[in-house]
Amino acid sequence: MIDVKNLHKSFGDKQVLCGIDEHIQKGEKVVIIGPSGSGKSTFLRCLNLMETPTDGEVIFEGKNITAASGAELNKIRQKMGMVFQHFNLFPHLTIQKNITLAPVKLGLMTQAEADEKARELLERVGLPEKAEQYPAQLSGGQKQRIAIVRSLAMNPDVMLFDEPTSALDPEMVREVLDFMKQLAREGMTMVVVTHEMGFAREVGSRVLFMDEGRIVEQNTPEEFFAHPKDARLQEFLSKVL
Ligand code: ATP
Ligand code: MG
Repeated sequence: MIDVKNLHKSFGDKQVLCGIDEHIQKGEKVVIIGPSGSGKSTFLRCLNLMETPTDGEVIFEGKNITAASGAELNKIRQKMGMVFQHFNLFPHLTIQKNITLAPVKLGLMTQAEADEKARELLERVGLPEKAEQYPAQLSGGQKQRIAIVRSLAMNPDVMLFDEPTSALDPEMVREVLDFMKQLAREGMTMVVVTHEMGFAREVGSRVLFMDEGRIVEQNTPEEFFAHPKDARLQEFLSKVL
């Protein structure tokens, strides 16, 4: 589904990604962990071209998208949903509008179709009564679930998550992770940057460790946590587990 070849990214003379090769298959749940500043967010952002790679290629569904722009880029972003630490909902729009705005604006659905889809998704995430409320009236966990739903309204083929629970109070982490687990069970292809090691163990089909712009080690969660090989990973795990 996603092929990354020799991906490099620099900001000025600072090299942030130093040659990443990765293949993500349909249905996989890839969990990425690593220290702050190791390039996790930059890697995710290069996948959907929110950052332009300095070198290398991103192939998505068989197509080299590295140089995509304009309408083609919009299309790619629809197919790759992205959820951030801070939910980025539009504060002046109702929840319903937040969900339907993009699919209608991009001509994927009529307003009526988008409204129906939004109702369905709100039902699914257990927040049907929030449709006419505004983001400020929701808890952090509810906002994040709405942010996920907003991405899902575009019928993405893959969902990218960048620390989706890091900004939440502990009691709200669970409801967001539970919703992500539900998506995982339904077969969604997912790439998740997280510090939630329980989630990595339980949901990940593969766990990657990034350090200094490289993927230093990757394995099934069982092997990854039980038998880490790289010294930096061992040290990292000793701090977070
Ligand atoms: P964290 O766990 O703190 O979120 P991360 O692994 O996601 O860290 P990145 O956000 O990808 O790390 O950043 C990697 C490096 O790139 C950091 O040194 C950061 O300062 C730098 N960087 C990221 N974005 C930019 C930018 N737009 N301009 C300049 N430097 C940047
Ligand atoms: Mg980050």
